[in-house]
Amino acid sequence: MSNHPAIAVVGAGHAGVEAAFALAKGGAKVTLFSDEPCLPYFRPRLIAVAFGQAEPDAIAIKPRKAYAEAGIDLRHEAATALDPAARTVNGRAYDALVLATGSHAFVPPFQGHAARVHTLWTLADALRLRGLHAPGKALTVIGGGVLGIEAALRAAEAGLRATIVEAAAGLASGSLGAAEATLRRAIEAKGIAIHTGSGVAEILPDGIRLADGRTIADDLLLCSAGARPNGIPGHEDYLVTRGDLNVAPIPAVYAAGDVALTPRAENAQPYTPPRSVRRAQLMGRLLGESLLSAHAGHGTLRWSEPILPQLMKVGDVELHTLGDLRSADLQERRVDDGADPRVWKSVLWRGDLPVGLRWVGTRAGFADWEKRVCESLAEPSP
Ligand SMILES: Cc1cc2nc3c(=O)[nH]c(=O)nc-3n(C[C@H](O)[C@H](O)[C@H](O)COP(=O)(O)OP(=O)(O)OC[C@H]3O[C@@H](n4cnc5c(N)ncnc54)[C@H](O)[C@@H]3O)c2cc1C
Repeated sequence: MSNHPAIAVVGAGHAGVEAAFALAKGGAKVTLFSDEPCLPYFRPRLIAVAFGQAEPDAIAIKPRKAYAEAGIDLRHEAATALDPAARTVNGRAYDALVLATGSHAFVPPFQGHAARVHTLWTLADALRLRGLHAPGKALTVIGGGVLGIEAALRAAEAGLRATIVEAAAGLASGSLGAAEATLRRAIEAKGIAIHTGSGVAEILPDGIRLADGRTIADDLLLCSAGARPNGIPGHEDYLVTRGDLNVAPIPAVYAAGDVALTPRAENAQPYTPPRSVRRAQLMGRLLGESLLSAHAGHGTLRWSEPILPQLMKVGDVELHTLGDLRSADLQERRVDDGADPRVWKSVLWRGDLPVGLRWVGTRAGFADWEKRVCESLAEPSP
C-alpha cells in the first residue's frame, strides 16, 4: 500500500463515519459510500424526528463541511458491485474496504393488509411517519422491545393514542423479571395500552387481529420487531467477522457496527450482539486507528465485545439494564427500599459477583454498579 492508501468505507452510519474520520486523520484517501441521500445522522434520534420532537437537520453526526475538510469523499451512492478479487467497489479501486452497512428493520411475513405496516429505521421512514401522525390518531406498535416502547412513549407525548402489542409474555424481550411491572405501570400511566402474550394473526384494513382473537383498531401501524444485517448484494454470506474484524474469508475487507457479528470466543458460533451506537463507534474507531498498520502486517485488529448498558429515557419513563439478565443461575436482589412504586433497582448476582442490573424509573446509582458489573464480567486476559 502507498503512504495514502485508498480506503472504501461502505455505509455512513455510526461505525462508518467514525472509521472514515480516523482513517482520513491517519493519512488514508477515504471514500465514504452512503445509500441515503442525507448527511449521516444520529440514528436513535429518528424516533423523536418521527413524532415531531426533533428536527431532521438537527440530528446530523457532523456538518457537511467537516467531510470536505477531513478530505473524505462522501458519495451518496449505494455500493452494489463489490469485486473482492479485483479490489474494486462500484468500479473504484480500493486497498482495503470497511463494511459498515448496519442493519434494516425486520418485518415478519404478516397476513392481510401488510402494506399498512410502517417501520422506523431510516430518516426516510421517520419523515414518512412524521407526515402521517396527528394528535388523536391511534398508533399500534408491534413489538414491545426498547425501541417499540420508546416509539409508543414518544407517540403518546405527541398526542397519539398508542398501543403496544408484544407476542412474548413480557416487554423488553423478557429481560426484566419482576421489574417489568414497574415499567408497565409507568408506560400505562402515559395512557398507552399494552397487550403481551399474543402475536399478530392478521393485519386488518383498520387495525390488527391478535392470535387470541382480540382486535385492536388503529390509524397507523408501526412494526418494531428487530433488525437484520445489511449485506452487499452477492456478499450476504460474508458478514461474520473473525475476532480481528477481518471479514472471513475476503482479503482486505473488514467489518464494523451492526453488520459485524463476531464470535464471542475462538471457534464459537457467531452471535448477534446488541445493536448499539457505542459499539458501532468503538468498532469504527478501532478500524480507523489500526486498520492501516494491521493491513500492512503490523499489529492486529482484535475485538472483544464490550459490556454496554441499554438505556432508555422518555420523560420520566426510564429503563436502564446491563449485563447478564437471563441466565438461570442468577439471584436477584433489590438495592432500593421499594418505597417508591415508580422505582425498581436490582442487581443480579452469580455467587458473590454482580453480573446484571435492572433499573426502572431512575438512573441514580446505576453508574457505580455498572463499574462493578463490568469488572465481574470482564473476560480474563489470555
Ligand atoms: C429508531 C432506532 C433507535 C435506536 N436507538 C438506539 C439507542 O437509543 N441507543 C443505541 O445504542 N442504539 C440505538 N439504536 C441502534 C443503533 O442506531 C445502531 O446499532 C447503530 O446505528 C449501528 O451503527 P452502524 O454504523 O453499524 O449502522 P447504521 O447506523 O445503520 O448505518 C449503516 C448505514 O449504511 C447504509 N448502507 C447499507 N448498505 C449500503 C450500501 N450497500 N451502500 C452504501 N450504504 C449502505 C445504511 O443505509 C446506513 O445509512 C437505534 C436504532 C434505531 C433504528
